[in-house]
Amino acid sequence: MYRAFMLKYGEIGIKGKNRAVFEEALRLSTEKALSRVGDGFTVTRPNGRILAEAKGDYDFDEAVDALKKVFGYVSFHPAKIVDDKGLPELYKEVISLFEKEYGRDIKASFKVKCKRGRKNYPLDSMELAAAVGEQLLNAFPGLSVDVHEPDIYVHVEIREKIYIYSKEFEGAKGLPRGVSGKTMLLLSGGIDSPVAGFRMARRGVTLEAVYFHAPPYTSERAKNKVVKLGELISRYTGPFRLHIVNFTDIQLKILDKCPRDELTIIMRRYMMKIAETIAKETGCLSLTTGESIGQVASQTMQSLNCTNAVASLPVFRPLITYDKQEIMDEAERIGTYETSVLPYEDCCTIFVAKHPVTKPRLSVIEKSEESLTGEIEPLLEEALRTQEVVEIV
Ligand code: ATP
Ligand code: MG
Repeated sequence: MYRAFMLKYGEIGIKGKNRAVFEEALRLSTEKALSRVGDGFTVTRPNGRILAEAKGDYDFDEAVDALKKVFGYVSFHPAKIVDDKGLPELYKEVISLFEKEYGRDIKASFKVKCKRGRKNYPLDSMELAAAVGEQLLNAFPGLSVDVHEPDIYVHVEIREKIYIYSKEFEGAKGLPRGVSGKTMLLLSGGIDSPVAGFRMARRGVTLEAVYFHAPPYTSERAKNKVVKLGELISRYTGPFRLHIVNFTDIQLKILDKCPRDELTIIMRRYMMKIAETIAKETGCLSLTTGESIGQVASQTMQSLNCTNAVASLPVFRPLITYDKQEIMDEAERIGTYETSVLPYEDCCTIFVAKHPVTKPRLSVIEKSEESLTGEIEPLLEEALRTQEVVEIV
């Protein structure tokens, strides 16, 4: 019954010249999201909204699910497209759509909103809204009009064809994919970093990602889990490249040369360094982690200060103020939680000290790292040289 979806975005960030850029980004990511649904959709941008028209058959629930993952929309509506065959025919179509969506016995208030994309229509928008409203009142005894806070809006848009829609789905909000530059996400197999990537992408940021593994201490399935997490978030974020970096020798070197209780912090600093090198090579303008203040020893204010000190790019931590439970809830909602909690080994925990420093001082850490000078550089180069790149789609 629905041949199309009418999609609506907010007005924030789309003033002036940006508007066209914003709309085109939305159009493209919508087309991409729907390309896997049925025979695909043709996505256009008539004035102030995005219209997706089905090319052929498709599964309604699948389409709704895909659209809920497209950033930039406040709401969207399944729409019926009808030919202009005169007013009586139009009334019939509105009534039949209304009945399908809400049933004969609906008790609610409503308001009709009309738009004319062409001015040669016999009634103007106000007249048409009043006429359609009257027809609905006659057809559904439980309805009443409320022009200020109606329970239900009924939309009629007159263009080349006529679009009728009412039922509303909540959009993912945020900004459309690709309008905010690229970040390098440090993606581990945990709960937090996929959520952090999701949050950045929701602001229109494109991703590149890096995962550090430590074979044979971490397994192939731990790596596959990260790839899987990448695939799960790519439904929202769009495709991205995942750089898989072998961190074993670096880790062993740190373990050998530095105080055990500083291992995690020093390791983190080298992760940051490598991530930043790849970030710069791939055109990223920032780094992103899943850190949250005080969550573990390596995420106290002092620890964050030490890790941050090695980076010259801004480091974004979208979850910095989240409680763990809030992050878990969000992971559930976006569908990464189940995969994140699979109990595979993590390179950060394999040699971890029983009592890691919780208030490291930068000067002390830097001093400890001096013992690595001359030996760590070739290992960093080797790690970069042997990185594996996986295209996440
Ligand atoms: P997560 O659920 O993201 O793994 P966590 O609670 O396990 O978080 P940590 O292990 O302390 O937290 O890691 C903090 C952040 O450092 C992660 O969110 C991630 O951005 C980055 N990170 C940690 N380990 C790795 C890794 N092996 N590869 C890439 N990034 C990592
Ligand atoms: Mg982790």
